[in-house]
Amino acid sequence: MTLLKKPTGVLLKHCWRKSVTTWTPLATAFNSPPYKKINFTRNEAGLFCMPELKNHEGFYLLKDNVTNHTEELIQEAISPNRKRKMVQIFDELSDSLCKVADLSEFIRVAHPQSKYAQAAEDACISISGIVEHLNTHKTLFMALSNVAHNGDIVPTTDVDKHVSKLFLFDFEQSGIHLKEEEREKVVRLNDHILQLGQKFMHGAVVPTSFPRSQVPESIRNYFPSEGDQILVSGLYTNSNNGMAREAAYKLYLYPSERQEELLTDLLKCRHALGKICGFQTYAHRALNSSTVESPEMVKEFIDELTRELRPRADADFRIMEEMKRKESGNKNATLAAWDTPYFTSLMKRNALNANANEFLPYFSLGGCMQGLDNLMRSLYGISLQNTEMEPGESWHNDIYKLSVVHEKEGLLGYIYCDFFERNGKPNQDCHFTIQGGKRLSDGSYQLPIVVVMLNLSQPRWTGPTLLTPSRVDNLFHEMGHAMHSMLARTEYQHVTGTRCSTDFAEVPSVLMEYFASDPRVVRTFAKHFQTHKPMSEDMLQRLCASKNLFSASETQLQVFYSALDQIYHGDPSKQGATTTETLKNVQSDYYSLPYVENTAWQLRFSHLVGYGAKYYSYLISKTIASWIWQTYFEENPFNRESGEKYRQEVLAHGGGVPSRQLVANFLKRDLTPQNLAQSLITEIDINNDKIKHMLKVDA
Ligand SMILES: [Zn+2]
Repeated sequence: MTLLKKPTGVLLKHCWRKSVTTWTPLATAFNSPPYKKINFTRNEAGLFCMPELKNHEGFYLLKDNVTNHTEELIQEAISPNRKRKMVQIFDELSDSLCKVADLSEFIRVAHPQSKYAQAAEDACISISGIVEHLNTHKTLFMALSNVAHNGDIVPTTDVDKHVSKLFLFDFEQSGIHLKEEEREKVVRLNDHILQLGQKFMHGAVVPTSFPRSQVPESIRNYFPSEGDQILVSGLYTNSNNGMAREAAYKLYLYPSERQEELLTDLLKCRHALGKICGFQTYAHRALNSSTVESPEMVKEFIDELTRELRPRADADFRIMEEMKRKESGNKNATLAAWDTPYFTSLMKRNALNANANEFLPYFSLGGCMQGLDNLMRSLYGISLQNTEMEPGESWHNDIYKLSVVHEKEGLLGYIYCDFFERNGKPNQDCHFTIQGGKRLSDGSYQLPIVVVMLNLSQPRWTGPTLLTPSRVDNLFHEMGHAMHSMLARTEYQHVTGTRCSTDFAEVPSVLMEYFASDPRVVRTFAKHFQTHKPMSEDMLQRLCASKNLFSASETQLQVFYSALDQIYHGDPSKQGATTTETLKNVQSDYYSLPYVENTAWQLRFSHLVGYGAKYYSYLISKTIASWIWQTYFEENPFNRESGEKYRQEVLAHGGGVPSRQLVANFLKRDLTPQNLAQSLITEIDINNDKIKHMLKVDA
């Protein structure tokens, strides 16, 4: 483990750190500003230690190399004298393209210097060109299709067959298997869908404006104005003024004709695409090789959940209504859609019995990293080691590099931590794969490399970065994705770690949130950054319980979103004349609170574009994570045997085994819609009991 050396500021830093004696070197590193290395020579190693990337022009070199390599691999795949398995050649093809595409995509969004961002963007465009060329390569397609349907000339395993089918399906997305006329239609539709989606996403966040004269005087002053227009740019969910929330809800969600047109067109094009490709609906196509397998099963799952949730969510809403009546002094006040986020967060604050800021000193970034390291050691026997970087290896000077090291197997991969906010960096927590793990032809293993991106404030000489409880959850969540990448040991990079079905991809990350919400785990690292005193037992219990408040009503909302997304992407004959009419019907079937006339919330719901029939993925991932937690970790969250089993039977396979099979084997139960729904309901009931107990004890 490398300790970061600080050439300056030692004295200042010492002031706040002198009473802290038990941080590990990892915690110390993350609790100090990253070491800014001054390089008197030139950039020597290149970005991510890639010698080509010693300067931005290297991206052009990478592009040329991949272009040549692609041609060689195509020739190998279609050669009658082929020696290797078809899937091996395809994976190498995909690997060489992904390496440049993923790296470039990351550098494009993250590099602070525009010449790098521009060169990376050019590389992205070149790769799309190569992919387009591949997508129309009939001979290559026929070679793969033949192997996927009739078997290879060399012996293959189940994993080989599964991955070949995944490649084939990806290939068919471009319509290459269709007659020329239809193929051209698919290309046009894909293009059109992309453009409609971008326009819809843009429109979804544009403020609504109304002439001042049309807005009642009593609510005008809630909103800023521009000339004689009132601008409404959001929902005011946190406002304690009920009138302002209501006004914002009705004005911001006022139906936009343009958005309605875009969404209607988008759904029509998607349906047409699904049909041409031989599927009953777009949803059937989107759910191909997913954990839940078919829209029919998704419907059964959400219907079952809805039945069970209704009385539980109603109980949550009654509590909220009571809160509203008390707060407004109006005995007859009724709860509406614009009230729920406000009262949910108010209830959470009340339950914490403290300002969220009071939790801050207990969650220094270094402390949280120590907590993660401790958990990884207990569960899997691996450690997170802060590693010094070579000059030029990083895109900014505040990045940390972690080596993930197993006690017996040695180095498993690298996680670069781009944790701090800076100008121009996307304000989003996410995980990027830079290089996928895969078995190489010489038998060695290509190590996975990922970046975890967060937007925390910089540590200062006066103290470390402190995290709010929800940021702690996010850190654990993103590190869950990173560990999925690190612990997978797949033959092929096409199915490395997080490259699994969308409705399984969030399982490892959501499971980490369960660990971050368990008092036994939080206790190991929630220590005051100055005094090193542990968080009091009372604070700890309240924090963990508060995370589960109103989980029935929150789940019901997710179920409603998922149902809407499924119905929009399903059979057109089951939809209303407008997307709003459909929304109205779905809301009355799946949500306890009524639809608000003259609003069109769906026209602001940009996830309809990104997820398209897969919005239920989060819900199903949460359900499976909950089930895994209850079965293996709830009794003892540090259980090595469970950790090892989870690693070997789930994480190690990435997307190499169909996720449905993976989960059913691991949990030793069938993944029926009923079993899935029941496990989530059980969790909600257990948590409600805990909360009731906690609130009563303190009353
Ligand atoms: Zn995630």
